[in-house]
Amino acid sequence: MKIINVSYRLPISLQKENGKVHVSNTAGGLSSAILSYIEKANCELVWTGVANFEPNLWHEIKDKSRVGYELAPIFLGKQLDKHFYQGFSNAVIYPLFTYFPSFVEYKEEYLTAYKTANKLMAEKVISLYKKGDIIWIHDYHFIPLAGLLRKEIGDAKIMFFLHIPFPNYELIKLLPQETQQYLFTNLLAADIVGFHTWEYALHFIETSEKVLGVTQQGFSIYHKNRKVDVGVYPISIDFEKFYQAYDLPDTKITREEILSNYGFKKIIFSVDRLDYTKGVVYRLNAYEQFLEKYPKWQNKVVFILVIVPSREEISKYAERKTMIELAISRINGKLGNYNWTPIIFQYKSLSHSELIALYTACNLILISPVRDGMNLVAKEFVASRKDKQGVLLLSELTGASRELHDAIIFHPLDIHQIATSIEKGLTMKPMEQKTRMESMQKYLARNTVFNWATKIIDEIKGYENTNSIPLDWDKRIQVLHQFSKAKKRLFLLDYDGTLAPFNSNLDLAIPSKEIIAILKALINNPKNEIWIISGRDKIFLEKHFGNLGVNLVAEHGAEIKKGEWKTTILEEDGVWMNDIERIFQEYVELHNDTFIEKKRFGIAWHYRKLGEEKGICSSRELVSILKKYLYNKKLILMDGNKTIEVKHHLANKGDICKTHIIKEDIDFILAIGDAKTDEDMFALLTESHHITIKVGDSYSKANYQLDNTELVKSFLSQLSTAH
Ligand code: UDP
Repeated sequence: MKIINVSYRLPISLQKENGKVHVSNTAGGLSSAILSYIEKANCELVWTGVANFEPNLWHEIKDKSRVGYELAPIFLGKQLDKHFYQGFSNAVIYPLFTYFPSFVEYKEEYLTAYKTANKLMAEKVISLYKKGDIIWIHDYHFIPLAGLLRKEIGDAKIMFFLHIPFPNYELIKLLPQETQQYLFTNLLAADIVGFHTWEYALHFIETSEKVLGVTQQGFSIYHKNRKVDVGVYPISIDFEKFYQAYDLPDTKITREEILSNYGFKKIIFSVDRLDYTKGVVYRLNAYEQFLEKYPKWQNKVVFILVIVPSREEISKYAERKTMIELAISRINGKLGNYNWTPIIFQYKSLSHSELIALYTACNLILISPVRDGMNLVAKEFVASRKDKQGVLLLSELTGASRELHDAIIFHPLDIHQIATSIEKGLTMKPMEQKTRMESMQKYLARNTVFNWATKIIDEIKGYENTNSIPLDWDKRIQVLHQFSKAKKRLFLLDYDGTLAPFNSNLDLAIPSKEIIAILKALINNPKNEIWIISGRDKIFLEKHFGNLGVNLVAEHGAEIKKGEWKTTILEEDGVWMNDIERIFQEYVELHNDTFIEKKRFGIAWHYRKLGEEKGICSSRELVSILKKYLYNKKLILMDGNKTIEVKHHLANKGDICKTHIIKEDIDFILAIGDAKTDEDMFALLTESHHITIKVGDSYSKANYQLDNTELVKSFLSQLSTAH
């Protein structure tokens, strides 16, 4: 097996020294996770990304660059790369996904470049791919890549992981609809889509529902004929590497230098990439407030603030740098003196040993992003404190705050809260520091970046798109053979979309003469027991099938007829139905070609006539309103085929089959249905003498699939003539 890893940055850098090109590995968390995985799992790796070096440099060393795995850079050229990376990736998606919509600079040429770069990356991956390989795509630069790959390599195992937050749908709405469709239809061609937190995963599911009208069950999304699993995998760090770094000679020397420089002063430290999401200006204002509120700390504390240069070419980043510099000089000018500079500012990258020395020399680390997918600095700080001392102050708007419960958690805009938290942190007793540190370290030692990579790769390896397969001629013969051998056969037949095609007028969707004749022929054979299991009410079913001798289930199981009609629901509180009717009524007012169907135990809104685009838009809106209404109520929301129905929780096709219909002695069961309600039935029927058939081509748990009601009719007709 081979892993094809796709990320914008490659895990290497090239340097030219004395006319010779050298390759060195960059020590990022992602690369150490993936490299360690392939070593342990003994599998191949190809890493592809966008080259930040010239093609001629690459050609010089290409053959010598194999460092246990293969590198496969793509070259975009300056202009394309600029519009792709700085433009659409970092001036559209990044600010939107991190809740800075006013920082978005949406330009057509950026989108065009994004599409081109993704296309070029798709060509590269396709050229590297061999059957059985796993493709792992990282981050927002390559959101549509899975779709472009799927068109060419249909059966590839594809995983997408988003390293930044996934925002609420209200933010996604700010992208033009066509762009939304392009991004998310293509993303849903992946097998697994992963995020750092449940919150991001739920936002993504909601967006998929609203943009594409997908159906969803648990953490799986059903889109076209595919199932996409949505997973949560918080990234972590190489715990041991950071823990052991405490004692490395370089770290020790630098730590001692720092400590001797600042004498007996307490040290507050922070390090971030230059980014407007990091909340640095609020942090500085909070530090100022801390010094003014607790003047005893003046001259006794120093704040070492390191900003690592990043994306300076983008105007919002350059502006942020100026804002930070202004705040620092204002505070230093206002509060500093000849002997004391309150903030020591460095604008540079740190070496690994400098970073660890600062992590381990400080008394408190202050991490205050206003939005951060995870924040690895927080985890690295905790891991490197082998001395079990030091206090972590962490913004509640980081992914890491969900895991590091023993940090002092604060809101990054509440500078008053940050100021008091700093004072609390600086006066925390060593024993309490130790207790908190040990508990966080235990967690991080268990949840390392290796576990993260292993979990994701194992899940993608085990993923199966167990969609139904077409019931072609050969399969029909096999089923007929099984059918003929059976002594007691049970038919579980859905009605709308299965025995009769849909009609926007419900009263016109009636059974044809042929289907009635087929049902009669089937019922005449004493080996067969027939049930029509429908969402329709009993009046409709009685009218069309009452005299046929078949058994009937109305309202998804709320009422059944075997000889006589009876209800399966004993107590009923119908108050909710008035509320739902009021909500539905509003939608009927808005779209007068839609209508309400009221039943005894359920109420449905039908929108078949609305048209595709309007239908998706209004129905998704209604679904999200209803989900809120139904919270904690004993009701079920059925997001059906152009209908939305709210019904009693006991009205369920699966349950009714289990409790009232299926018996031990039956040796052949055939279930046919087209809608989500039928999936409950299919889920029950998993044995070899169970034949389940989905009508239509959307994803299903059924074994087989037939395209339409005509094919259902012809298949049933075939069975009706068998003995
Ligand atoms: N880091 C770095 N160079 C430095 C300082 C820090 O590469 O000079 C690393 C740090 O060790 C951490 C990463 O940058 O692994 C920052 O990750 P984080 O998740 O905190 O923020 P991001 O930059 O991804 O938004």
